Amino acid sequence: MNIQSSLEILLIEDNSGDALLVEMMLSDLPLITYSLTRADNLAEAIELLQKHEYDAALLDMSLPDGEGLEIITQLKPYAPGLPIIVMTGRQDEEFALQTVKEGVQDYLIKGRIDSWQLTRSLSYAIERKRLEDQMIHLAHHDQLTGLTNRVLFQDRLQQSINRAERRQENFALLYLDLDNFKSINDALGHHVGDKLLKGVADRLLDSTRESDTVARLGGDEFAIILDNLVDTAVVTPVVEKIMDTIAKPFLIGEHTLHAGISIGISLFPDSGRDAENLIKNADSAMYRGKRAGRGQYSYYTSDMNAKALGDLQMEMELRDALEKRELVLCYQPKIELLTQEIVSVEALIRWQHPKRGMIPPADFIPLAEETGLIIPIGEWVLEEACRQLAGWQNMGFRSLRMAVNISARQLRNPDIIKVILSAIDKAGISPGELEIEITESMLMEDTEVNNLILRELRQHDIRVSMDDFGTGYSSLSYLNRFNIDTLKIDRSFVRDIPVDADSIAIATAIVALGKSLRLNVIAEGVETEEQYDFFTKMDCDGAQGFYFSKPLPANEFLQFFESYNEKQIMELSA
Ligand code: C2E
Ligand code: MG
Ligand code: MG
Repeated sequence: MNIQSSLEILLIEDNSGDALLVEMMLSDLPLITYSLTRADNLAEAIELLQKHEYDAALLDMSLPDGEGLEIITQLKPYAPGLPIIVMTGRQDEEFALQTVKEGVQDYLIKGRIDSWQLTRSLSYAIERKRLEDQMIHLAHHDQLTGLTNRVLFQDRLQQSINRAERRQENFALLYLDLDNFKSINDALGHHVGDKLLKGVADRLLDSTRESDTVARLGGDEFAIILDNLVDTAVVTPVVEKIMDTIAKPFLIGEHTLHAGISIGISLFPDSGRDAENLIKNADSAMYRGKRAGRGQYSYYTSDMNAKALGDLQMEMELRDALEKRELVLCYQPKIELLTQEIVSVEALIRWQHPKRGMIPPADFIPLAEETGLIIPIGEWVLEEACRQLAGWQNMGFRSLRMAVNISARQLRNPDIIKVILSAIDKAGISPGELEIEITESMLMEDTEVNNLILRELRQHDIRVSMDDFGTGYSSLSYLNRFNIDTLKIDRSFVRDIPVDADSIAIATAIVALGKSLRLNVIAEGVETEEQYDFFTKMDCDGAQGFYFSKPLPANEFLQFFESYNEKQIMELSA
């Protein structure tokens, strides 16, 4: 029994003799210090309960203004959490048990009570109540941050809906997701990650009102209910305040961390009338914001529904696409301009959809990245491309390399090197025959980490090309430090050659830059003879594009390859 502080006990008893008895028994107790307040009847008890909080109540079941169970039903609404011990004159155990079912903690039979029994009953009742409260608190709060958890959040959201419906009011649901949590957690460990989450929770509480609900839904996801909105115009300032406070650096140990947050907002009743829709729509607004660039907030709009539904359908189908063998690779040659030889092939993925036909990568790779499906898909691409190269090599085409595109999410997978090496190994090709293509903008995202990965790839003798060069923002110093072999001039600079003077200037500069850095330079998207001539005269190393061949399925590529070689031989001998 763990009762230290003074107990406030309410004795509801009309019989003065019985009241005196209880008082005497209590005063006998060395374990309990208490103060006793007495009410003669139910009405008085209710009055006292409205003014004061008690630790426990001792309740006579027969009062001048109430009798039996009815007393409890009347009392309960005024003392929802109060441990009640019933004292009854009746020797009716069944009745007493019934009171326990009504939420009474214990019952004592008058005339049989002694002080030992009374203390035990009181302290048990209080302790049980405390445990119960603690359990309810645990079940409803996030242990790390102390915020409302998902369970209680759902409950609160439903309450907000009911209230807003009744009063014809608005409220806002905010869905929040930290932008850099995963990388901070991975890089600095979960102790730091945990502290950051706590810090974020505190700042969220500071930037909202007491009556708002701030919840942690799991991981780095939070939700806030902004209740009783007089005017929905107040939402934006609150959201901006939240963004500002979270944007300020967090000082954790010796680290200065920048978390950043993305927020999606749905409004009752405009964005949804039930909990499920409000949550779903705030979530999709948040994701749309994230895709547009991190650290943004966006309101849900109804046109997002159609897109979200489409995405969901597509995601389900994409999950099965690998198994159903609907993903295929096409191959496009890269030509060495000096020798005119096909030195390499780029593997480009397509989705052969049973209903929608051939879907280009631009239409499903972003979704695959968002959902993480890019990891198994990318693994399959690597294995399939390496296997295909080995097949062609076995047919006698020895001096061919294979280029495979790697996306941002794949690069962040800590297993990426293992995955690449295992694909090489399984196919039995040598590492020097594989090229990895990574877009410039992706490499610039996290230069330090990426450069480590590039260095490791180079150590294994695997080649790396910087794809879509000219569209990102590499500074020359980075280009110099990055461990890459090849720059691929982005198609957009090739397209308007020779008409557009700017394109000519940029392409010329990139070729010169590549030479000075001793990098290979390849022109992407060469479609016309003029473009081909231009890059040949520029002394550019290679070219790729429809002028030579479109990306082709494996069997067609083989035919193309054989006839190209024959034509080469004939031209050489002519
Ligand atoms: P990319 O790596 O820059 O690939 C070159 C894109 O240009 C290909 O589009 C190709 O079909 C197209 N192309 C080639 N020559 C010409 C030309 O002369 N004119 C024009 N107009 N276009 C040309 P595709 O196959 O639609 O691929 C688009 C992008 O999707 C790729 O750009 C690459 O970033 C990504 N991708 C393709 N396959 C994969 C893959 O297996 N994994 C990953 N992560 N991304 C892939
Ligand atoms: Mg590429
Ligand atoms: Mg490209």
